[in-house]
Amino acid sequence: MAKYDNNLIVIGGGSAGLIVALIAATVRARVTLIEQGAMGGDCLNTGCVPSKTLIRSAKIAHYQATAQRYGVRSVAPEVDFRSVMGRVHEVIATIEPKDSMDRYSELGVNCVVGSARLIDRHHVAVGDERLSARSIVLATGAEPVVPPIPGLADADPLTSDNLWGLQTLPGRLLVLGGGPIGCELAQAFGRLGSAVTLIDMASALMPREDADVAAFIEQTMRGERIDVRTGHRAVRVVPSSGGAGVLHAESESGEVEIGFDRVLVAVGRRANTAGLGLEELGIATGPDGALCVDAYLRTAVSNIYGCGDVVGPYQFTHMASHQAWYAAVNALFGRFRRFKVDYSVVPWVTFTDPEVAHAGLSEAAAAERGIRVDVTRYELGDLDRALADGSAQGWVKVLTRPGSDRILGVSIVGAHAGELIAEYVLAMTHGIGLKKILGTIHVYPTLAEANKLAAGAWRRAHAPERLLRWVGRLHEILR
Ligand SMILES: Cc1cc2nc3c(=O)[nH]c(=O)nc-3n(C[C@H](O)[C@H](O)[C@H](O)COP(=O)(O)OP(=O)(O)OC[C@H]3O[C@@H](n4cnc5c(N)ncnc54)[C@H](O)[C@@H]3O)c2cc1C
Repeated sequence: MAKYDNNLIVIGGGSAGLIVALIAATVRARVTLIEQGAMGGDCLNTGCVPSKTLIRSAKIAHYQATAQRYGVRSVAPEVDFRSVMGRVHEVIATIEPKDSMDRYSELGVNCVVGSARLIDRHHVAVGDERLSARSIVLATGAEPVVPPIPGLADADPLTSDNLWGLQTLPGRLLVLGGGPIGCELAQAFGRLGSAVTLIDMASALMPREDADVAAFIEQTMRGERIDVRTGHRAVRVVPSSGGAGVLHAESESGEVEIGFDRVLVAVGRRANTAGLGLEELGIATGPDGALCVDAYLRTAVSNIYGCGDVVGPYQFTHMASHQAWYAAVNALFGRFRRFKVDYSVVPWVTFTDPEVAHAGLSEAAAAERGIRVDVTRYELGDLDRALADGSAQGWVKVLTRPGSDRILGVSIVGAHAGELIAEYVLAMTHGIGLKKILGTIHVYPTLAEANKLAAGAWRRAHAPERLLRWVGRLHEILR
């Protein structure tokens, strides 16, 4: 049997690659991790961590501006944008050691700095260095797409990659793209004081969500004076100086012009596969640029695997770690046993305010696939804690199999929806039905009670009528 320097080489030290390397080192495999940029990848440096930190500052500003609702005098927030961005970088720096080369080296991972390229199915080049391994995992992530709109590239567009170096709050910010990243950042910048216009060519924001969710978030944005323009297709940009310019967009009512001081592009993310040497090895990518893999995350070359954003289709940190487990285990132990990735319960959260959380089947997906479902909706306007907090906007929507309490999908819109969904994710993953959620003590008064009250709403709508009629008669007799 041929021998190699490593059991495993991992290319990319983001959320996916770090977990693959960690698992490999934990099971005493010899593993080399190659990273060309900052360890921690997008999540730590340009994605989840900076965006959630910025959103927090924006929320504090929003509290100040709306304090009167709570009987406390509202004040116009004085935002020190440099400090806001300073805090973003402080938080990154605080988390950084967890993902650092020092830590991973201590854990037993051989860390290499540089840009990696596949030479053949067992060899990787990093500069002049050549490394070999029995298996290789590609975890090279994705990057923001800047569409080829004439003039856009000359307007020094902001993306999630370069946004975090911004030192001055844009007076007028144009956000292109109404997906999760566009919506989160549009709301945050609006709350920090930018006049934000959010445009999308689709007829609704947040395409992965049900229509009621998208409409609610759009209404919330408009309520915060964000100029939301759905059904607008950007056709060209006329740049002026310093990143400013005018966007020309087509809409049903003709061509419109939108002036901006900075433009933020958030129209999607493309897998990083260029320059890896995939073509030479016959490893295919799909029309969206993502690496083609099978259910075991194997590429066309059976000892080369992929995971995380480079594979998709769910570009989330938690999905990167989920896939990383399968990639690591299949790459190291696949000759004995292989595991298919389980996508049956995929949760995600958009961190707008209110948050939008989702897991499993949506109403739209159920209708599209002809799956019959019962829909139970519990309004947060009924929840004591939400009323006390002044956050009674939103709902819990649960999709169940008709005639059963088995949960097929959940959407939650509301404060801390991202925390609330965890109970349903656990229930769905382990086959726990609504009756068991109803039979679980939930602390009063908490937002989490909404989950139990939604289960209660399901119970009332599915009460055993015949049995109740019979019991009613029994009580008449016993009176
Ligand atoms: C603004 C924003 C907000 C987000 N918010 C959330 C959120 O709230 N929750 C959530 O779950 N997800 C969020 N995401 C998505 C999340 O950041 C990604 O899903 C996650 O980072 C993907 O991890 P990954 O390891 O696949 O890729 P990455 O983190 O991109 O890591 C890939 C790494 O590979 C390296 N690399 C690439 N090519 C090579 C090469 N040839 N040689 C060596 N190294 C290479 C890159 O430098 C990079 O460090 C957000 C993303 C953005 C942009």
